[in-house]
Amino acid sequence: MNWPEHMFIGALFGIILAFLLGLPILEAALIIAMASISALAPDIDHDSSKIRKIANITVPIAALGFSFAATCSEGFMCTLDDLRSVVVLGLAITGLYMIIITFCKPKHRGITHTIFAALIFAVFIYIFSDLNFALAGFAGYSSHLIADKHIKLI
Ligand SMILES: [Zn+2]
Repeated sequence: MNWPEHMFIGALFGIILAFLLGLPILEAALIIAMASISALAPDIDHDSSKIRKIANITVPIAALGFSFAATCSEGFMCTLDDLRSVVVLGLAITGLYMIIITFCKPKHRGITHTIFAALIFAVFIYIFSDLNFALAGFAGYSSHLIADKHIKLI
């Protein structure tokens, strides 16, 4: 199954989740977007996958964005020192991603295609956002495994 189908199924899972949670329309849209992107995540183990192309661009941007938000929370007032920390932290996260994806690349449909990975993914999202997003991440990620008919616990 290729990425548009995975995104579509992920979005369906997101719609169901948003409905179950009874979310207002704007929040529902975010949850659905989160679920459909998450549905691509398991194929990060594939060099030519869509999610790898997306990640190679978004990881550095998101890493910098996250570092900025984490460092300059006080009404987005950044001192020069803060900005230095932002760049260092952003580059560190990006570097970590590059190292993992280059040297610790799991085999295709290996560890990334498991319920265990879906849980780790959800916990990771929970740390950086909130429970609804974590649920959306889990729903989207699991939808990929179900669509692949490749449902292993670990
Ligand atoms: Zn897959």
